[in-house]
Amino acid sequence: MNRTVRSLGPGECADLIRSTGSLVVLTGAGLSTAAGIPDFRGPKGLYVTRKYNPDLVFSIDHFRRDPLLFYQFTQDFMGLSKDIRPTFTHRALSSFEECGLIDGIITQNIDALHHQAGSRRVIELHGSYWSATCTRCQKGDVSGATCAWWDKAIRTSSRAPIVCCPVCGSVIKPDVVFFGEAVKDFEEAAAMVSRCDLLLVLGSSLAVYPAAVLPKMASGTVIVVNQGEVMLSPGRGRYFINQDLNDYFQAVAEELGVDVP
Ligand SMILES: [Zn+2]
Repeated sequence: MNRTVRSLGPGECADLIRSTGSLVVLTGAGLSTAAGIPDFRGPKGLYVTRKYNPDLVFSIDHFRRDPLLFYQFTQDFMGLSKDIRPTFTHRALSSFEECGLIDGIITQNIDALHHQAGSRRVIELHGSYWSATCTRCQKGDVSGATCAWWDKAIRTSSRAPIVCCPVCGSVIKPDVVFFGEAVKDFEEAAAMVSRCDLLLVLGSSLAVYPAAVLPKMASGTVIVVNQGEVMLSPGRGRYFINQDLNDYFQAVAEELGVDVP
């Protein structure tokens, strides 16, 4: 077996995208940090600088006992993230879907930027900050279709608020997957990956479950675009591009002749 790490130019990548029968895209934290979202696990992340304990902030058991820590963290996180916009790559993926070039996106990110960019078929494995559910009456999307209410409640209070259900008054929890909760729609994601001919992995080091296992389920070509180390062994039909994601994708979109707004 050829164990050499192989790269791929934007032109060759565009050729593969053009000629494939079924393309699925898996996106990770690298796409969100490029949009200006702080990587809360990184060396300068919120966990370190603000002394948040990641195991407690996103622990479902701790949230049920005392949701205040999570809401304090969220208020800080939203404060840092309020000006985020989809990146070129987010917008390009939406245009690719419109042109019929991609079948769907699987993301580990909780920022809903794929939806904001206009992508329709998106599986959010770790859920999303932009919808929420009451912990007692389980009323879905309590804060409205756009979650403007949740957004406003978090951003405008001077003290960290605990957001409560307008129907029953119980604590509201965003639909983010906490530690101790199952990831969402994993079987559907796995089926999509095993069916596709081409899997594009964008901005993920593939170090964290479940992203780590998905590329191993792909029987076709896998192209990983990520700056830094990637936890996937080289092999036949696997390509690794260690470049800036947006620069690379801009070149791919040009090669494909797809207009990205
Ligand atoms: Zn309720």
